Amino acid sequence: MFKPAHLGRLTNCKEASRLISQAQERRLSPCEWIRLRLHIRWCVVCQRVERQMGFLREVMRRYRA
Ligand SMILES: [Zn+2]
Repeated sequence: MFKPAHLGRLTNCKEASRLISQAQERRLSPCEWIRLRLHIRWCVVCQRVERQMGFLREVMRRYRA
């Protein structure tokens, strides 16, 4: 049975930060993506990690261009 809220809680911070960094290099599968979004929704720590990662990626993109 598909329970998004349940899936989100099953994803711990270690898993979430791994998915965040992998998302910089490849496309996440829909399942991974949903798990990551749901975790980030309730986890402030990973919200911060994602913001920092997005910022770093932006900086790198500008540096390369
Ligand atoms: Zn977290």
